[in-house]
Amino acid sequence: MQAISNQKITSLSPSLSLKKCLLGLAMTLTYASIWAQATNASSAAPPQDLSGCPSEVILAKFKEFGKTGKMPPDLGRWLGDPKAQYIEPYKAFDNVYYVGVCWVSAWIVKTSAGIVLIDTLHEPFVDQLIDNIKKVGVEMADIKYVLMTHGHFDHVGGAYKIKPLTSAKFVMTQEGWDEAFEDSAASQKTPRPWKMMANRDTTVKDGDVIAIGDNQFGVFETPGHTYGTVSYSFYVNDGANKHRAFTIGGLGLNAIQDSRQVEAYISSINRIEQLAIQAKDPITVHLTTHPFSTGLTEAKELLKTRQPNTKHPLVDPNGFTAQLTELRADAVTRLAVEQKKEKK
Ligand SMILES: [Zn+2]
Repeated sequence: MQAISNQKITSLSPSLSLKKCLLGLAMTLTYASIWAQATNASSAAPPQDLSGCPSEVILAKFKEFGKTGKMPPDLGRWLGDPKAQYIEPYKAFDNVYYVGVCWVSAWIVKTSAGIVLIDTLHEPFVDQLIDNIKKVGVEMADIKYVLMTHGHFDHVGGAYKIKPLTSAKFVMTQEGWDEAFEDSAASQKTPRPWKMMANRDTTVKDGDVIAIGDNQFGVFETPGHTYGTVSYSFYVNDGANKHRAFTIGGLGLNAIQDSRQVEAYISSINRIEQLAIQAKDPITVHLTTHPFSTGLTEAKELLKTRQPNTKHPLVDPNGFTAQLTELRADAVTRLAVEQKKEKK
């Protein structure tokens, strides 16, 4: 019932030694550049223009951060403020609930054989996550799998607190686990260390399928955002309709170290695009790891006023391929920058 079968599809991963060498650098930079800067900010109130979690405003601020590498102070305050980050949990599909915060997602998927949680948030939001899970009618003890996308603090930092509350398998790629331990160790020298990283648990690889009850979670290694990044496909239900959904494990170019990593990113995007447009079982829903990246905060409002027999606002195949096109365009621009640096 809960077996992980191994159907090798294809591997996009570069050599392990390269990964290792890049990971050390990437973790230090990523941790220092996001969370430490976030919590160094003063205790002034978070900015008004971010209240309500407006996707475009957040995206614009992160683009600015991406260009300069310096966290705007208002964005920093907002990132660490539980009140400003709060999102009321909601039902996205008949079997799917959003239980994350404004900055980073966590998803509950109900199956006929128990619960799957995707990503675990981080402190100081983990109690909020646990409350949200209970609010959508899920007992922590019923969680069977925690599927984690990559080893950055905001996706796996909450695992240590969730683990004692469940007997779930905590799942990531080998490289993802390595990233998490390296990121956690690097954080100890910053003003905001991780409390701890949960112990290494279940490791998956490309082509695995996690079958649980009436759902199947496909495992796709999609290196790029980090080398250990993994994406998951699964099915979401809307009345009589069933759709194939996808969670891209990592979106940003904030942990890029060189051109080879950008090339891996572009290959992953190309592969996801093929899955999205294939004739059999295409992907029509993107359940994102960061709500502002797809305008999820605004789209979910449409659920409240949706009339029977109308299109589900989160079923958006064109929106998904448009996002992939944009992600690839940004990566192609970055590739040129990295290649130029390497020629010097
Ligand atoms: Zn990340």
